[in-house]
Amino acid sequence: MTGHRNGPGAPETREQGELTGALLPVGPLELSAEEVRQLWSFIHGDIMDGSMRRLLRASLGLCPRHTWAYAVVEIELWQAGAGARGGHQPFDVTVLYEDLLAHVAEGLDRKGSLLHRHPDDVLLPVGPCRICEDMASPSLTGLRMGYANSNTEALTVEANGLAHTTAWCRETFQLWRGAVCPDCDPDTPTGAGDPTLLCRFHLASRRPLPEPLRHAVASRLREIRGRMRHLTESMTDYGAPVGDEENASWIEAVGFFAGWGLPLYLAAAATETESEPDVQGAEPAE
Ligand SMILES: [Zn+2]
Ligand SMILES: [Zn+2]
Repeated sequence: MTGHRNGPGAPETREQGELTGALLPVGPLELSAEEVRQLWSFIHGDIMDGSMRRLLRASLGLCPRHTWAYAVVEIELWQAGAGARGGHQPFDVTVLYEDLLAHVAEGLDRKGSLLHRHPDDVLLPVGPCRICEDMASPSLTGLRMGYANSNTEALTVEANGLAHTTAWCRETFQLWRGAVCPDCDPDTPTGAGDPTLLCRFHLASRRPLPEPLRHAVASRLREIRGRMRHLTESMTDYGAPVGDEENASWIEAVGFFAGWGLPLYLAAAATETESEPDVQGAEPAE
């Protein structure tokens, strides 16, 4: 199951190129070995210790490319775990995004005042994406040893196959399709669509936001977070299995923080590629 890129013979159509929009990631992510190495050790690091949590809140997680890449690397490479799927699940991702959804919702609900930042400033990251920062580090010379001596080249091929991520996006497509940011969605005319569904970039571009919109977005984020908490628990020894709405929650959370380019791309590629590879646990959406 390694080596396939986006399923066999997935066509690179112009339509798919348009789906990725300005917020990338472009088409199949095509992560470099160094990106996979960085993200794989990021996943194994202590992301939720106090100082890291503060840094990740300030930067609102990672840049769009590395946010989706973070989810992809965890889903594709995590081989064994608790819960119904026993791996290939975005556990680290949901833990981080529960925290970031709460952080942004709280910020948006805050009262504006002269003494504090405007409430919608919470949509603007302070500080860089730490993966971009590490990639640009001058001390980076060639390919360093991967986490626990893992074979980074092999892991990169596996991650770039996107098999399990594509399966998740397909299975839950009907549930998240109506929640896509209208400005990320090439099928929605510019400026149309429900502004409550805007991703953080497209919301930020409309600042200052009217107060009712801020509160509506905050409660939407809390609703996503509520579903995602169940999903996180389902990936532990004590959690109950979850349904499709919980399974879709992480895509909605990551879509808010990183734009919708990748799930739209994967869903379009999947509907055009009817003969799918043997993805375990995948139920084709249609
Ligand atoms: Zn980055
Ligand atoms: Zn958007």
